[in-house]
Amino acid sequence: MADQPSQQPSHQPSDVTAPFAEGAQYIAGRRAAGTSGHRQAVTDPATGERLLEYELAGPEDVDAAVDAAGRALPEWSGATPAERSEALHRLRAVLDGRAEELVRAESLQCGKPVRLCREFDVPGSIDNVAFFAGAARRLDGMAAAEYSGDHTSYVRREPLGVIGSVAPWNYPLQMAAWKILPAVAAGNTVVLKPSELTPLTSVMFAEAAHEAGLPDGVINIVSGAGPGAGEHLVSHPGVVMVSFTGSTAVGKRVARLATEGVKRLHLELGGKAPFVVFDDADLEAAVHGAVAAALINSGQDCTAATRAYVQRPLYEAFTAGVADLMGMVVLGDPSDPATDLGPLVSHAHRDRVAGFVDRARADGARVTTGGRAPGGDLAAGAYYLPTLVTGAAQHSEIVQSEVFGPVLTVLPFDADDEGLALANDTPYGLAASVWSRDVYRTGRGARELRAGCVWVNDHIPIISEMPHGGYRASGYGKDMSAYSFEEYTQVKHVMSDTTGVARKDWHRTVLAL
Ligand code: NAD
Repeated sequence: MADQPSQQPSHQPSDVTAPFAEGAQYIAGRRAAGTSGHRQAVTDPATGERLLEYELAGPEDVDAAVDAAGRALPEWSGATPAERSEALHRLRAVLDGRAEELVRAESLQCGKPVRLCREFDVPGSIDNVAFFAGAARRLDGMAAAEYSGDHTSYVRREPLGVIGSVAPWNYPLQMAAWKILPAVAAGNTVVLKPSELTPLTSVMFAEAAHEAGLPDGVINIVSGAGPGAGEHLVSHPGVVMVSFTGSTAVGKRVARLATEGVKRLHLELGGKAPFVVFDDADLEAAVHGAVAAALINSGQDCTAATRAYVQRPLYEAFTAGVADLMGMVVLGDPSDPATDLGPLVSHAHRDRVAGFVDRARADGARVTTGGRAPGGDLAAGAYYLPTLVTGAAQHSEIVQSEVFGPVLTVLPFDADDEGLALANDTPYGLAASVWSRDVYRTGRGARELRAGCVWVNDHIPIISEMPHGGYRASGYGKDMSAYSFEEYTQVKHVMSDTTGVARKDWHRTVLAL
C-alpha cells in the first residue's frame, strides 16, 4: 500500500484562485460578491489549506439571479436553434482554450488527481458542450396531420422558462455542464447553485459562456448554502423547474419544496451500484474493473462499484485479486500525474466514510484491506486508504447505504438468480454491471438489474449521446443525450381549423339550434 505520497502536495493556487477575490457569484454576466453576511472557505483537501474565502449567496443574490434569467429569457428563447447552436460551438472553443485552467481549479477544490481531471472531468464536460451544440438543432416534434379531418394538429416543443438547478461537489464542472447545457440548448435560462464547497469551475464555466457571447443572464451561478440559497432558489416563484443532483435525503426535501410550487422536477440522486460477477467471467477483467470502478474519484461517484457479488467458484480469487490491486494504488499529491487516488473532498466527509467502515467492523464484517486514513506525509489531508470489506451481511449498513468513499464490499453467491436478487436488493437504482462470457447471462443481467444504466463486462464509462439517470430512490429524469430535452421542454398541441366554416358541425352537440 502506498502510504507515502509520491510527493508532498505543493500547489501554487494563486493563478486559479485570484479572480475569486471579486466573489464567487456570477449574475447577469458578471462576477459578484454574495450578500448573505456569511463567509465560506474553499479548502484544498489534500493539505487542509484554505485556498480562498468568499461570501455566500443570500436570498437577494438568488432574487437578482432569477430576475436576470427572466430578463434574458425572451431573447434567448426567441433565438433560432442555429443561433443557440452557434453560441454553444463558440463556448466549446473558449473552454478548449481554458482546459488546463479548469483542470487545475477542479483538481484543487476537490482534491481530484490531475490525471482524472485532464482525461475525464474536463474533456467530458467539453464534449457535452459539443454534443448540445449539435443537438440544439434537433428538437423534433410529431409530424403535423389532420387527425380530426377538420383541423391541422401539430406539436410545438417549447422551453419552460427559468430553471433552478442545484449541483453536488463530486464532479462540479461535469454536473454544471449536465444541468446547464440541455436547458440552454432548448432555449431556457438557468440559475445554478453549485455546492458551497466547490464553486470555482461553475463560475469559470458561466464566465466562459459570457465570453462566447451567450447573452447576460442566460447562465447565472449562485454559490450559497443548501438550506439558505438552495431552498430560496427551489422555492422561488420565478423558477418553473427544479433540476437537482445530490443525495437522496436532500432530494426528498427539494422535491417537497418544488411540489409546493407545482414546479417540474428532475432528480438525480444517490446510488449503490452492484457489480455482479458470474463464474465464467474473465477474472482479470473483473478484478481490474472492480478496483477502477470502486476507486474512481476516491469512490465519490454516484455510479461507482460499491457492492461486488461474486459467484462462489471465483470468490476467493476475486477478493485476493482486488486486495492485491488495491495495495498497488498510489495515493498522493493530486497535482502529480502519477497519483491514482487523491483525498476525499473534506475532512468531515473522510470521517463520515471512516464511520461506515468502523461500524461495519464492529458489526462483524472483515476489513481485509485499508480501513483507515494513511499516516506519514498524507496525514494532514482528507485521505482514506482503498478499502475492501468482506463478510458483511446483505442488510447491514455498509451494504445498503451510500458510503461515497473508496470502499468496496464483496459478497459470494451460488445460483444466478440469487446474485441478481442480491444486486437488486437496495432502495437505489442508478447503475449496475454484469460480468460473464455468456451472452444469455449478460442479457439476463441487462434485463433484470433495476438501474438506469447497466454495463456489460465494464463499469463506469459514460458518453454524451446516451442518457444518465436513476430508477427508484436514485431519482427520475435523464441527464445528457437527447433524452434530457424531455426534462427541459414542454409540448404544446396546436389545433388549427382548416374549414373556415362559421357554424361547425360539432357546435350542434352543444347548441341544438
Ligand atoms: P447533497 O445532497 O448534500 O448536496 C447537493 C446540493 O444540494 C449541494 O449544492 C447542497 O448545497 C444543496 N443542498 C443541501 N441542502 C439543501 C436544501 N435544503 N435545499 C436545497 N439545496 C440543498 O449532496 P453532495 O454531498 O453535495 O453530493 C453527493 C451526493 O450526490 C451523493 O449522494 C451522490 O450519489 C449524489 N450524486 C448523484 C448523481 C446522479 O447523477 N444521480 C451525480 C453526482 C452526485
